Amino acid sequence: MTIAIIGAGLGGLALARVLHVKGVDAVVYERDASRDARGQGGMLDIHSDTGQRALREAGLIDGFRAIARGEGQDLRLLEPDGTLLLQEDTPDDAPLDRPEVDRADLRDLLLDSLPDHAVRWGHAFERADDGVVHFADGGSATYDLLVGADGADSRVRPLLTDARPAHTGQHAVELGIPDVDRTHPDLAALVGRGNYWVLGDGRSLSAQRNGDGRVRVYLSFYRTAEDWVDTCGIPFGDPPAARARLVEEFADWDPRSTALIAACDDVVVPRAITTLPVGLTWPSKPGVTLLGDAAHLMPPVGQGANAALLDGALLGLALAAHPDDLPAAVGEYEREMFERAGAAARMSARIQEMLTAPDAARRMLAFFRPA
Ligand SMILES: Cc1cc2nc3c(=O)[nH]c(=O)nc-3n(C[C@H](O)[C@H](O)[C@H](O)COP(=O)(O)OP(=O)(O)OC[C@H]3O[C@@H](n4cnc5c(N)ncnc54)[C@H](O)[C@@H]3O)c2cc1C
Repeated sequence: MTIAIIGAGLGGLALARVLHVKGVDAVVYERDASRDARGQGGMLDIHSDTGQRALREAGLIDGFRAIARGEGQDLRLLEPDGTLLLQEDTPDDAPLDRPEVDRADLRDLLLDSLPDHAVRWGHAFERADDGVVHFADGGSATYDLLVGADGADSRVRPLLTDARPAHTGQHAVELGIPDVDRTHPDLAALVGRGNYWVLGDGRSLSAQRNGDGRVRVYLSFYRTAEDWVDTCGIPFGDPPAARARLVEEFADWDPRSTALIAACDDVVVPRAITTLPVGLTWPSKPGVTLLGDAAHLMPPVGQGANAALLDGALLGLALAAHPDDLPAAVGEYEREMFERAGAAARMSARIQEMLTAPDAARRMLAFFRPA
């Protein structure tokens, strides 16, 4: 059985690792030229019943505990006027239910657990036909099973479904404060060890301490048009001017929110948030399947990386359990994944809807602390 996995993200690597543990060969083809070709982004909270379950199946849970930040579970939830609704400080002996981990550290854990030849860098998938996968550089490889683990803009997905990601009405702008303890100790204390979250009026500010001392700040605008980046009047091509404009956009909020924005450096990255239809399925084909964002892109409310890791692990287990029966393995994986990912996508959509409400912070409080 020749298994070609497209994409060395968390899901593709979890699959490769579980197959490696089970003694099944697979090759991961990744578009990036090397593991350090681009930054991997901020923190992820990895849940005990999904992402951590996958890491247990992959034999990597001890390695995960060594890089996980339990204190990253701390949360401060505020309304736009600065009213503190919830402060959760994680005790030192608290269980690691949802610890934060740097995405780059988690990806390194998975990469380091694989033999070097398992990941082929600089292989951008272009198309596949008759058991042959073709890459952008003109190269090709054969496969019995092709796994699209190539993320939100998957090029493997059209082999199974016409569904495409659609705009959710949210745009998020990423900014950050470098070396916060030294440069802005007052803001370091404000954000604390984990998440500082201000919600309401169709906007949100989330500030999160990263393992490298950077505070990553995400400003979200809900109910935006698809072309918001070009039409909103914020000069994203000129980061200092864009930052000043963003301060103005939040001028009616508590001054601590605008202080966080003003302290950011010149990384100002706007992103449209897109999702696949909730509950997406496709008729099973034995030679190709999808996992992670390629299969079920959801709003970024904490489920996507966890679901991708678990998809990878469970597909790996199904393939190892049916080494001579690909249709059985793929069918078993997809049936479970469709149901599980559908439930996660429904929950994510519900949270996303709450975030757009004028009283979003109070709604989130009720969600975290049901009466
Ligand atoms: C701002 C933001 C914050 C988020 N925060 C969280 C969070 O806190 N918790 C959480 O659970 N989820 C979070 N998510 C979602 C999470 O990042 C994704 O769900 C997760 O990374 C999906 O993993 P994946 O392996 O499916 O895809 P990816 O991680 O996107 O990996 C896909 C890989 O495929 C490669 N690739 C793409 N095209 C090709 C090609 N043609 N050929 C070869 N390789 C290719 C890419 O280079 C990449 O390495 C967040 C998302 C965003 C945007």
